[in-house]
Amino acid sequence: MTYAFMNGEFMPLDQAKVGVMTHALHYGTSVFEGIRGNWNEEQGKLYVFRLREHCERLLQGCKIMRIAIPYSADDLCAIILELVERCGYQQDIYIRPLAFKGEERIAVLKLQDLSDSLCVLTIPFGAYLDPEGAAQCCTSSWRRMEDTMIPPRTKIGGLYVNSILAKTEATLAGFDEAILLTQDGFVSEGTGENIFTVLDGKLVTPALSSNILSGITRDAVIQIAANELGLETVERGIRRSELYNMDECFLTGTAAHLTPVGSIDNIMIGDGSMGPVTRQMQNLYFDVIRGKVPRYLHWCSPVGATAKAAS
Ligand code: PMP
Repeated sequence: MTYAFMNGEFMPLDQAKVGVMTHALHYGTSVFEGIRGNWNEEQGKLYVFRLREHCERLLQGCKIMRIAIPYSADDLCAIILELVERCGYQQDIYIRPLAFKGEERIAVLKLQDLSDSLCVLTIPFGAYLDPEGAAQCCTSSWRRMEDTMIPPRTKIGGLYVNSILAKTEATLAGFDEAILLTQDGFVSEGTGENIFTVLDGKLVTPALSSNILSGITRDAVIQIAANELGLETVERGIRRSELYNMDECFLTGTAAHLTPVGSIDNIMIGDGSMGPVTRQMQNLYFDVIRGKVPRYLHWCSPVGATAKAAS
């Protein structure tokens, strides 16, 4: 049985419903998270990756959107672990907390006048982008939302129209993924992933000022690269044309994990397949998220009777 947590209660997923007048459905007035539970076959255990950081980012988005849910980050961690335990999954899963303006009123109203809801649901979830076959990407004709339009650092529902238009355009043109630029032409990110490049033995990735989502996988990659491979990450502005001559390129995200990029705008990156640094980083990352590396166990919350949220 699959359960959801909605408005304070656990219930079967098919009972978690909203009405057609719900404000968030019309205006995108929501904040959400995407969290993965990763199944460790040898240990017979499911580990939720960086749960606390995801709950904190959700609350940061709620603050901007004036969505007041009566839960702290610790409360949210406990709710999510209990929900996942109730569902009893023994496979990789995706967890979706959604905080939204649940009031059934049609009008462009002040956020503070609208009541709030929280729903958490979880679904089985395998690969999102092929982790082996290097993704064929294009530069989108859509620009990434600016901080002066809809704040892009957290996952505000309405913001995702931007990503979905770019993903649609890219896939209709035969590409796997789009890379969006900022209004002034700097590389920002994919539609659901941050972007990294490898240049002269260093990782180079767009800075937060390039309107990127403050990615939790991005942060994990920066730390793992420094600790395990002694690789420095430079966060700076990157031009589109600079991307084409990088040694390697990969995308990071909760759904996408760490996916190599084979080409951008039909220009091959490296030899078009997964580069050696990307391969090393991907292997390390997959071990870390499945709770196989003791140094990073504090990022992995085990699901089970005695489970506690890692910090
Ligand atoms: N950028 C966007 C637009 C995203 O939706 C995501 C997925 N949450 C990411 C980057 C990667 O973020 P994270 O590693 O925290 O999942």
